[in-house]
Amino acid sequence: MSLQEITARVAAAETAAGRPNGSVTLVAVSKVQPDERVAAVLEEGHRIFGENRVQEAAGKWPGFRETYADVDLHLIGPLQTNKARQAMELFNTIQSVDRPKLATTLARLAQELGHCPELFIQVNTGEEEQKAGILPADADAFVAECRALDLPIKGLMCIPPVEEEPALHFALLAKIAERNGLSGLSMGMSGDFETAIALGATHVRVGSAIFGARSY
Ligand SMILES: *Cc1c(COP(=O)(O)O)cnc(C)c1O
Repeated sequence: MSLQEITARVAAAETAAGRPNGSVTLVAVSKVQPDERVAAVLEEGHRIFGENRVQEAAGKWPGFRETYADVDLHLIGPLQTNKARQAMELFNTIQSVDRPKLATTLARLAQELGHCPELFIQVNTGEEEQKAGILPADADAFVAECRALDLPIKGLMCIPPVEEEPALHFALLAKIAERNGLSGLSMGMSGDFETAIALGATHVRVGSAIFGARSY
């Protein structure tokens, strides 16, 4: 597939859902992809990218930003507190705020640095032990805690369990966001972004469908 094809499918899904064109942000997930593939997508004009590891992004994006200063970079993987400062300097958005200790650290660093990326809270909608994210039952309290820390929470993010119907998880995430007055919904990947858009996604994170399969 290609960027053009995915952009067209996003637009068609917006129309099918009765939503305005451009209401969904396509985050091109470039983790593990070779630089040539990333460069090709930049040359096509795309500027919004997602990475799941701070270290990998720190090696890759400062170089690209010398040519493309308007790159908009999203962290979509788990963040250790000892990498929080580096992440805040590198990323425009952090989508993986998942625990009180990280929220406290981000708030302290925001004071120190005088700026803070936009934030999404990751919700572990499948309540999977190995997966990051706040549990659905704790989400409302955590949103309130982040707001009390003055953190700029834009929305919620989830990664549904691989073997389950993603629509149920997208609907749950949308419900939690709505009752907390949050407008951002980061949900949907290569295999299910159209379903996510039908259920209100404002951000879809698409990797392999744009860049091809990742070879680890
Ligand atoms: C890798 C990754 C994606 C993209 O997955 P694809 O199936 O390649 O589209 C989306 N979200 C997160 C959190 C990821 O780690």
